[in-house]
Amino acid sequence: MDREALAERYAQVNASLPARVKLIAVSKTRAVEEIKALYELGHRDFGENYPQELREKQPLLPTDIRWHFIGHLQTNKAKYIAPFVHLVHTVDGPRILDELNKRAGASGRTIDVLAQVHIAREETKHGMAADEVRSLLLGWEAMRWPSIRVRGLMGMASNTDDTTQAAREFEGLKALFDGLREKGPFDPRDFSELSMGMSSDAPAAIAAGSTMVRIGTAIFGPRA
Ligand SMILES: *Cc1c(COP(=O)(O)O)cnc(C)c1O
Repeated sequence: MDREALAERYAQVNASLPARVKLIAVSKTRAVEEIKALYELGHRDFGENYPQELREKQPLLPTDIRWHFIGHLQTNKAKYIAPFVHLVHTVDGPRILDELNKRAGASGRTIDVLAQVHIAREETKHGMAADEVRSLLLGWEAMRWPSIRVRGLMGMASNTDDTTQAAREFEGLKALFDGLREKGPFDPRDFSELSMGMSSDAPAAIAAGSTMVRIGTAIFGPRA
């Protein structure tokens, strides 16, 4: 591992972000040593995609890391991350909310979540349609999910070189977010996060109003 190169890329990414945008360093597939190196540069927010991988890494790393779960979460895997996860970005329906709520209650904690919205053209990307998100959040069942706090929305744009396409998708997600923030049942001080933007499309996401970018490659280099 080249610590100097890591520090340089990290500084460059940081310099490109406005103060209102939080950087989530996406560390899926990265060794514990690499994560530690970024931690020693002062970074605390890390994102992981796979529950088993996160469950194995978490005990090997400092306890003040804020772990963001950004991958698809199956109900039978929620228990691996529920005791410590800081924010689940990928809630895609009532069933995973039932499971997270149950596991949060068992751990005596509240779990913060974002609702994942499908905004890309590809069908392979997970998330709910805008209508589904609206009906879930506008009809929020507070009695059913007392240990869940909804903090906002997350989305992934189409994987394309067409920057206007990605920009349109991010703007659509921002409009949905603004509408729900205004009309939804949540305190706007809680419902305040819009997770969008990765290494390739962070500038478009930030221009559209992102509050959190999830960046792996631009910090750690290409994944194996
Ligand atoms: C892997 C991943 C990222 C980071 O992608 P990079 O291109 O490495 O920046 C961001 N968000 C999600 C959901 C991911 O799976």
